[in-house]
Amino acid sequence: MCGIVGYLGPLNPKDVIVQGLKKLEYRGYDSAGIAVIHQGHAKRVRAEGKLKALEEKLTHEEFDGHTGIGHTRWATHGAPVERNAHPHQVRGINLVHNGIIENFVEIRTKLLQEGSILTSDTDTELVAHLVANEVDKTKNLLKAVQNTLGKLQGAFSIVVLWDGSPDELVAFKDGPPLVVGIHPEHCFVASDVQALIAYTKKFVYLEDREMVQLQKGKIQVYSGSGQPITKQQVELDWNPEMIEKGGYAHYMLKEIYEQPRAVAAAMEPHIDIEALRVRLAQVGFGKPMKSLTAGSFDLSDDFAKTSEVLKKTQKLFIIACGTSSYAASVGKYLIETLAGVSVEVDIASEFRYRNPVIPPHSMVMTISQSGETADTLAAIRLAKEKGAVTLSLTNVQRSTIDREADGHLYMNSGPEVGVASTKAFTSTLTILNLLAICWGRIRETLSEAQEKEYVRGLLAVPSQIEVVLAFDKYFLKASRKLQEFKGFLYMARGVNFPIAMEGLSSSRSWPTCMPRVMPLVR
Ligand code: GLU
Repeated sequence: MCGIVGYLGPLNPKDVIVQGLKKLEYRGYDSAGIAVIHQGHAKRVRAEGKLKALEEKLTHEEFDGHTGIGHTRWATHGAPVERNAHPHQVRGINLVHNGIIENFVEIRTKLLQEGSILTSDTDTELVAHLVANEVDKTKNLLKAVQNTLGKLQGAFSIVVLWDGSPDELVAFKDGPPLVVGIHPEHCFVASDVQALIAYTKKFVYLEDREMVQLQKGKIQVYSGSGQPITKQQVELDWNPEMIEKGGYAHYMLKEIYEQPRAVAAAMEPHIDIEALRVRLAQVGFGKPMKSLTAGSFDLSDDFAKTSEVLKKTQKLFIIACGTSSYAASVGKYLIETLAGVSVEVDIASEFRYRNPVIPPHSMVMTISQSGETADTLAAIRLAKEKGAVTLSLTNVQRSTIDREADGHLYMNSGPEVGVASTKAFTSTLTILNLLAICWGRIRETLSEAQEKEYVRGLLAVPSQIEVVLAFDKYFLKASRKLQEFKGFLYMARGVNFPIAMEGLSSSRSWPTCMPRVMPLVR
């Protein structure tokens, strides 16, 4: 996963792009670069390593233009060195790319035979050559990109800037996410809304094979067949402060302290506090999402539909990766125990590459914080092909997985930037608790009195987390001692076993530590 930011407008593109790329650092990268129009041509600056290295190189660089693109690269084709960093430039075409071009060898061979001179080892540079060849013929960037797409195979998103039309950007998505930021004076495109939330809350998410042309004050999206289309705008209720560090040393620390709020926000739409009942207000099975807020749903109708679907379901598959898959394993214990429904947990990458048997009346639920995890997305598509009802749990509303699922649940934890998941994990566990309780009531494996007791228990969780966090100075002290140890053994049983697994996966990032997990056996 890399990061892409494109900007066209009155602000200084260098600043907008670098600040945006910083917000995408969580996606991981090994080098970075930008190209911004200066004196009629794109001037490119690239650097190996962290964004700091790029920023240092940019300190004395001035750009007088209003359009630019930037990229953080996660190398797939060629070493993570400056000459492979994006943007790639070929005869006035400047191109950034996220993903891989699968027919790389064929295109490379053909270009070399035709006499093209390649300056990098990447698949991306080949795309820049193909677009440059087309733009030489058409003198039209949109057409040039359109004509190139048929020659590419793989999963890729690109943003292109052409010196010949410096007030224009063209972007195309097929696989990795791309979102367009909407504002009356600015045009933005990026891999994730987090890069743009400081400037706008209105977005258009591109679907696979859609293309967008950004020009001064004008944004036009095109379908896969090249027809102009009108897309729905999404307004997010995030604010820029939500993705700042707010005085904490790092994002993960801030997000640990945000857990009481995140857990409360996760359950808030679903609990009728007076009745101490779980309503699963936002699921909306079988209906397009009317709005992003629970407030404007007809809750009774929506819940009746949700109950009907849950009543019919005899088997649940929960598909996820990494941390989300450990949360899923907790969900298995909860749903089997409280609702008596059989649950299978699958790692998305395994599920998608075998031929899973999905019996009739099955539901496939996916968990993905970003809603963009590639394997999880492929798994939900496979599940739909096999006729399962699908339910997604994501943190990012209108993300690709969210859009493709039949039913929708949200973590509501606000942006999570830290790479080891914290508040999104606890919010996920909250939602799984609610789902298990609600399902138990619907299937009548739980009595009304038990439901009330569990709901009361859940409502106490945010303040219980606060109490734990109030003892932070002891944790700090303990962690300083613990860091001297070379290995840890996590032991747990039942619902705590997946939690121990999550402990193991988080502490792997501690270089001196060799953690192991063992189930507790009698
Ligand atoms: N395949 C491209 C490269 O290796 C793009 C990788 C990415 O998504 O960052 O440069």
